[in-house]
Amino acid sequence: MAEELNPFKIAQEQLDQAAEIMNLDKQAHIILREPERTLTVNIPVKMKDGLAHTFTGFRVQYNDARGPTKGGIRFHPQESLDTVKALAAWMTWKTALADIPYGGAKGGIICDTKSMDERELEALSRGYIRAIGKYIGPEIDIPAPDVYTTPQIMAWMMDEYVNIIRHNSFGVITGKPLEIWGAKGRNDSTALGGMFVMREAAKMLNINLKNAKIAVQGFGNAGMYAYTFSKELFGSNVVAISDSKGAVYDPDGLDLAKLQKAKDESGTVQAYESKNAQKMSNEELLELDVDVLIPAAIENQIRGDNADKIKAKLILELANGPVTPNADAILHEKGIMDLPDFLVNSGGVIGSYFEWVQNINGYYWELDEFRTKLDKIITKSFVDTMNLRNEYKQNGKDIAPRMAAYIIAIDRVAKAMKARGWY
Ligand code: GLU
Repeated sequence: MAEELNPFKIAQEQLDQAAEIMNLDKQAHIILREPERTLTVNIPVKMKDGLAHTFTGFRVQYNDARGPTKGGIRFHPQESLDTVKALAAWMTWKTALADIPYGGAKGGIICDTKSMDERELEALSRGYIRAIGKYIGPEIDIPAPDVYTTPQIMAWMMDEYVNIIRHNSFGVITGKPLEIWGAKGRNDSTALGGMFVMREAAKMLNINLKNAKIAVQGFGNAGMYAYTFSKELFGSNVVAISDSKGAVYDPDGLDLAKLQKAKDESGTVQAYESKNAQKMSNEELLELDVDVLIPAAIENQIRGDNADKIKAKLILELANGPVTPNADAILHEKGIMDLPDFLVNSGGVIGSYFEWVQNINGYYWELDEFRTKLDKIITKSFVDTMNLRNEYKQNGKDIAPRMAAYIIAIDRVAKAMKARGWY
């Protein structure tokens, strides 16, 4: 039977697995299997050829028992409602595991940003907010950037929201440019949070990060900063990196300036040149013999059909949903430590939380305060996850870190629903 790759089915399957292990209350389980609110909107935009094109967008608010829903907006040609539902569920677990006062949400628009000019992107961003504006707000639902969305897009969206409500409201969207009260540190906080988790996991696995070989899949915000931080903070050797067109591998390590030049001039990191550089596919990058593998692109990259070929000792899921449940079972069997997305990449939303807190209070922090607080929260999430896994181990049950993290998150959301009288 072909492996299930519908992200929402996968998210439900993960929930079901955790529910069984933790013996979750049946009523709580039923509530948590579906989103609270799902919006589908159609947005007309006048394009450069003078014709109106209608774009379809989504916003899914999964669960708000612990606070306003929170989550990014993706602009992607293959976006689908089920993907957004899955990502909204994962945001619910992400904010609960980090123990920040939010629920989970996600948005998406089916579009190809690479073929759009700036005016079209602005019109689409504003149109999306006009369509969902009634359902968002600093105490309701707070969007942020994600795949192919930027601080500039967040700025247009916030401005459009402000036009609707007729007063400034910086806390409605996070990941904004610094000029309009984005937070110092938010732009690279997804990757930096992942690095703090990598530091803790490496200690546990006795991996010396200095000169450790690392492969990064993806050259977006998460992948690019994972590359720079792992070199800067630990002196690791990033030997491979990729974008949607393919990967480049150099056993001697890659140089950022040259990578950026290749990307700018040829549109792909594959154009990178050095004595030992070799092109490879995204699939081959995943199978490299490295110490740490960082999937930082999109979902469903490590599956039942390739998990067996993974050689890394540690997988850090900086993307959302890069590893399927079938792959989970194989990796666990092989003794590879795979740290789940909603732990590893939670630095993004933790950073967003800091931005929102600062916006609401109108009092702004320096970068070091932001980073120290991020380290504290995400390291605690890692420690909590490992401690729970050990507790299960002592009781004779060997569960993967993903399941331990799920159990912590689900338990918190279920307790909040219970306290509020939802079941
Ligand atoms: N898009 C990021 C994520 O998937 C950040 C979400 C946020 O900051 O609200 O976690």
